[in-house]
Amino acid sequence: MRVGFVGLGNMGAPMASNLVAAGHEVAGFDLAAPCPDGVAHAGSAADAAAGSDIVITMLPNGAILRAVADEVIPAMAKGALLLDCSTVDVECAREVAAKAEAAGLLAVDAPVSGGIGGAEAGTLTFMAGGTDAAFAKAKPLFDIMGQKAVHCGPSGNGQAAKICNNMILGVTMIATCEAFALADKLGLARDKMFDVVSTSSGASWSINAYCPAPGVGPKSPADNGYKPGFAADLMLKDLRLSQAAAEAVDADTPMGQAAAALYEQFVEHEDGKGRDFSAMLPRFEKRHRG
Ligand code: NAD
Repeated sequence: MRVGFVGLGNMGAPMASNLVAAGHEVAGFDLAAPCPDGVAHAGSAADAAAGSDIVITMLPNGAILRAVADEVIPAMAKGALLLDCSTVDVECAREVAAKAEAAGLLAVDAPVSGGIGGAEAGTLTFMAGGTDAAFAKAKPLFDIMGQKAVHCGPSGNGQAAKICNNMILGVTMIATCEAFALADKLGLARDKMFDVVSTSSGASWSINAYCPAPGVGPKSPADNGYKPGFAADLMLKDLRLSQAAAEAVDADTPMGQAAAALYEQFVEHEDGKGRDFSAMLPRFEKRHRG
């Protein structure tokens, strides 16, 4: 297949490389990042899109996705698929899909989880929204770039799944970090805390697979000076998207709201920018009640 790839940053570059390694012809465009080996450099997003069976976008936010979609949709052949893997707001995903479909294209929103490591290893999870036909067309590429793709329903539902998942993740990470900091002050050793909680009802991915305490549990960014991993800035972005969506549909999400406020404080007013999102633990360690 001929694939156009727009957005070759931390995630897009390794995803494009995996498509090349699997034998696809990939034409890439990025405003700043270089094309990885084997990806043909296109002069513009429209050039990458022209003549492609599938155009993948992996961009920072919804405003940029809208602008890129306006450029690539007219350049794409009827029946081709616009596959957006960025994390953007649900409304933006639905608008872009509607524009693509009005132009005779297929569209899928398929944000990912698994981070840069998953993008490199080809083990991402895709959460996809779109028609059955559009999902079927994307599936062979999901199988190369990821280990699992869930068809979550119509356009926008991939983004809905992503922000709901990450709202849970943000909340459980904060709860895990504050509990470790409390355990410290109560004189409970961290390895004992891990042993109990990871096999008890307080277990979650945040402690079992991504333990925020260094030297405890499986290897995680905590063991690497809290170098991301999944950056606190990106968690803040996803929590904000969850709260914008909750606002739009009048959903009551008090824990999500509290998590968004805490990550905002951490990233914008403290030292959280550029650190892993599990660096909430050293933040709580230094603090006192009230
Ligand atoms: P990134 O900033 O490394 O890459 C984005 C790329 O888009 C950059 O190289 C930038 O130059 C390029 N770009 C911006 N505007 C452009 C335009 N108009 N035309 C062409 N290229 C343009 O970001 P990333 O970490 O690769 O993340 C991409 C998306 O994936 C985001 O939506 C992010 O929320 C999501 N995501 C990231 C991770 C992660 O761990 N990094 C995990 C899951 C999801």
